[in-house]
Amino acid sequence: MRKRKEYLITEIVTGALFMYIFKETSRNAYNNDRRDACFRKNFFKFFGINLPHADAADDVLRVLPPEELEMLKTHLVSGLIEQKIFRKFRFLGKFHLVAVDGTGMATFEQRHCDHCLTKISKAGEVTYFHYVLEAKIVTSTGMSISLASEFIENTRIENTSSIGKG
Ligand SMILES: [Zn+2]
Repeated sequence: MRKRKEYLITEIVTGALFMYIFKETSRNAYNNDRRDACFRKNFFKFFGINLPHADAADDVLRVLPPEELEMLKTHLVSGLIEQKIFRKFRFLGKFHLVAVDGTGMATFEQRHCDHCLTKISKAGEVTYFHYVLEAKIVTSTGMSISLASEFIENTRIENTSSIGKG
């Protein structure tokens, strides 16, 4: 049995985020990068923490309620507002500018989960996709910070076998 290393929750969440930021194509690709001595040294130099094994991040994220991550985001953004990071970007010197918009996250040729949205082309091809509605503080520099995310998804499974049976 592999002896499992213990990680800080900071390392787990940061590792999960960096799988996306580094555009890793798989957990294995991420593990290969994090094993590279130069990569590991540079990451530690910048962030002062180690990247966790992808399996450890997966184990935690499978049981961590998504609401906990939303609360973490709220806590982090509240800290930035309290530190007056966005002060010079306020509208009329008074209001934070918040943009709300939907954006595509992923597209699939096959249904990948029960909540996929679908689009049918003129040729009759079905595309499966996921959308998220985002509320972000926006600034004149182009920097934007997410305040809240709401996933737009189907709540029921479409029964394609009933199409045409009225
Ligand atoms: Zn899906």
